[in-house]
Amino acid sequence: MSSIQHAIEHYIGGRRTAGASGRSQEVTNPASGQVTGHVALAGVAEVNAAVAAAAAAFPAWAGTPPIRRARVLFRFLELLNRDKDALAHAITAEHGKVFTDAQGEVARGIDIVEFACGVPQLLKGDYTAQVSTGMDNWTLRQPLGVVAGITPFNFPVMVPMWMFPVALATGNTFVLKPSPTDPGPSLMIADLLKEAGLPDGVFNVVQGDKVAVDALVGHPDVRALSFVGSTPIASYIYETGAHHGKRVQALGGAKNHMVVMPDADIEQAVDALIGAAYGSAGERCMAISVAVLVGDVAERLMPRLVERARSLKVLDGENLAAEMGPIVTRAAHARITGYIERGVAEGAKLLVDGRDFDPASAGPGCAGGFWMGGTLFDHVTPEMTIYKEEIFGPVLSCVRVKDMAEAVRLINAHEFGNGVSCFTRDGNAAREFGQQIEVGMVGINVPIPVPMAWHGFGGWKRSLFGDMHAYGEEGVRFYTKQKSIMQRWPESIEKGAEFVMPTAK
Ligand code: NAD
Repeated sequence: MSSIQHAIEHYIGGRRTAGASGRSQEVTNPASGQVTGHVALAGVAEVNAAVAAAAAAFPAWAGTPPIRRARVLFRFLELLNRDKDALAHAITAEHGKVFTDAQGEVARGIDIVEFACGVPQLLKGDYTAQVSTGMDNWTLRQPLGVVAGITPFNFPVMVPMWMFPVALATGNTFVLKPSPTDPGPSLMIADLLKEAGLPDGVFNVVQGDKVAVDALVGHPDVRALSFVGSTPIASYIYETGAHHGKRVQALGGAKNHMVVMPDADIEQAVDALIGAAYGSAGERCMAISVAVLVGDVAERLMPRLVERARSLKVLDGENLAAEMGPIVTRAAHARITGYIERGVAEGAKLLVDGRDFDPASAGPGCAGGFWMGGTLFDHVTPEMTIYKEEIFGPVLSCVRVKDMAEAVRLINAHEFGNGVSCFTRDGNAAREFGQQIEVGMVGINVPIPVPMAWHGFGGWKRSLFGDMHAYGEEGVRFYTKQKSIMQRWPESIEKGAEFVMPTAK
């Protein structure tokens, strides 16, 4: 763990700049609790400069043939593969997640770049010859202009890569506003894009907080906003962006359930719950935070779950034996601790208490870090705060229900609808579950069903505001507008003005 503090700047028009706002924020290594850097916080002037750079770069980039844009992304892909471990170490240093998990994050981001490399095929369009005699009609998709992405702390590489590879491939220019909690990887990405040959101004980074976000959301030259973060901010961005006439895709918070049916394989279900609840310290929008135990499965599953939650390897993320690292910030640690206290006060049965964890046991230099162990509650009921609200930490709540119908009713009544999972050996039960559940991403014996790059990512209800999912073909549609062209040539134009609605002739 380095004690050198570095300055994390903006990246505008192909160059790093400290900006002139005079504001900055500490960046901390969550494992040690040490301040490792200071990130500049943009004011309106820095945002205006980034949008101006992106607007200036737009005509040439939009006019570059898709195959040549794809070639830049192919080079970027090679560089990402070269530097993927360096990116993963940078994630661990500022976010705290374990290194192998950070490698997985980078790999899932790389998937999207591979998808975006196929942009000539994705932009091919439709063509109909002879919609009327001598007349043809075709559709094409064109870029929007300057688009912006506002991203959360929990995936500082992958979530930006849900956005900019598709946005750039389709001919837009981009302004990224990363989370100020772990801003370092954004500049590594900018450097790799430059090395790949991306023209200056096509990709820009403004570091910042609400001031930068509001400047982007209200900026007349920003045509579309992609947001990923908590639900209150997602809903604010969606409403404000729409008010300013922008296309908005705002992905929000989650409370993901995993149903365990009585016929499920107990060891497989326990493995899935432990990994999906405590991996990345539960700081994933697809983390499982509620186990819904059907019928008598609880009696068989709970003893194993308690044993496994108690023996979690909570260690410094750079330790390759680590299963779970620290909590991202001191404030997040306090928030999660508050939820555990609330759960106890509201009558849930606390079986494993992560507050007991000794930070010094995580490794040398960890005594001052933001550590806690995995927490497990049983007999949680739907009116409890720990059931209703997103905790975003390593806290798993178990709810007991009598049958599948009750499980489905419970989940469908929740305000969030990001991910859900069902563990069973019964094909018909699984099929019915998939049909009836009101959640955007469903796993059958898959605890974290994050769709692959070409399928698109998005929840339902208050987990997504907007019409289109991130990446995949919906991502291509989000970052482009359709144009329809009808064409004929003088030889096929009949004489005389037409006053009736034109029809096929
Ligand atoms: P957050 O909402 O605090 O921050 C997200 C972004 O919004 C950051 O860039 C932040 O700087 C900015 N922001 C924060 N407060 C703001 C304000 N008042 N006005 C304008 N902008 C503001 O979220 P977070 O804590 O960084 O990330 C965790 C949240 O993100 C969780 O709720 C998690 O479920 C969600 N998330 C959702 C998905 C998804 O795909 N649905 C994916 C990852 C994370």
